[in-house]
Formats: sequence, structure tokens, C-alpha cells
Amino acid sequence: MESSFRKYQCMHCVEPACVASCPVAALHKLPDGPVAYDGYKCIGCRYCMQACPYGVPAYDWSEAYPLIAKCDLCYDRHDGPACASACTPGGVISGTRGELLAIAKQRIADNPGKYYEDRVFGEYEGGGTSVLILTPVAFDKIGLPPLDDTILSDATWPWLKAVPGIVVGVGGLLTGIYNKTKDKPGEDHKEETQS
Ligand code: SF4
Ligand code: SF4
Repeated sequence: MESSFRKYQCMHCVEPACVASCPVAALHKLPDGPVAYDGYKCIGCRYCMQACPYGVPAYDWSEAYPLIAKCDLCYDRHDGPACASACTPGGVISGTRGELLAIAKQRIADNPGKYYEDRVFGEYEGGGTSVLILTPVAFDKIGLPPLDDTILSDATWPWLKAVPGIVVGVGGLLTGIYNKTKDKPGEDHKEETQS
């Protein structure tokens, strides 16, 4: 039986539900794409774990001062994500979102029928992701959720309104700031493509 592999990591969503759900802005979208985490701000509420459709944020349950752990796309490295540097077969490459979408679509055009439904996962799913995936396997078979182009952070707000008022107030303020500074879908972001 043939095996397929996927690198499981934060997808660095264009409109991250984890960022929208975080009441203290411990998670934030950087201008060039990565979703970063500030442990000093984190209050351990774990809303981000509920909001993420990919099940990415993990919690240090065994620590006295638990933190959230997730990939930050090596945003502070000057030569791109370490995983892309380490992957010598070229299964993971890095670049801007625009560059990698073009590469992915060229691969599909050069190999019609090779990739699942001739689609790039992450071009539109959940409002788009900065990690893009090319695979010959059905998306659900490699653990990708069945998302349409609905922006996930939009779906997060009604859910967040159910939490206590003081948290909603803080969250509303910080999300408002975020909405003024975040990137728009389609702009070039740092990202990875897996094939
Ligand atoms: S994959 Fe999850 S943790 Fe990563 S940016 Fe998207 S919502 Fe946030
Ligand atoms: S645990 Fe709560 S405070 Fe910490 S990053 Fe997640 S949503 Fe934000």
C-alpha cells in the first residue's frame, strides 16, 4: 500500500481564528504572514485551541506556568523557515504567498491530474492560509479539515461573545486594532508549500 505524508503544523491562516479568539492579543499576525505568540501576554484561557480548525495550538499541561506551543514560521530567522532549509528533497519550500501560489499552479498545469482535484489547499480554505499544500491524496485523507472559503475569524466572533463581558471587552478592543493592521488576502506573505 502506498503511503503519503504531510507535515503537520500551523497553517498561518490569512485571517487566523486563533488571533480573533485570543482576548489579550498573545497571538498576532505579523505583516509578512507568520502568526506569532507572546507567552508573556498569554493568560492560559485556551480559546485558541478551540478556535483553530487544524488543532494546532498545544498546551503545556505538565508545566507550572503553562504556555501555548505552535510553529511561528521561524519569523525571526533571516534565511527562512528551518524546515524548508532542512528538507533537502525540496518537499518544503519557502517564499512569499504570491510566489508559491504561482509555483504550485505551474506544477498543477505541468502535471494535470497529479494533484488532488488540481487544487492548492490553502488558496481559499478558511479565507486562505500562508502554508499551502499540494498533494495527490484527498485532503481529508491526510487530516485536512473540510473548509470552504468562509473566513474563520468571522465565525469566531459569535462564539467569543459567549465569554464573560470583561474578556469580550478586551478582546474587542485588541481585535479592532488587529483588523486595522492585518494583511489582506492575496497579498504576498512569507509561507511554505508542501508537495
Ligand atoms: S492554523 Fe490554527 S493556530 Fe495556525 S494561524 Fe490558523 S487558526 Fe491559528
Ligand atoms: S491560551 Fe488564551 S491567552 Fe493564551 S494564546 Fe491562547 S487564546 Fe490567547
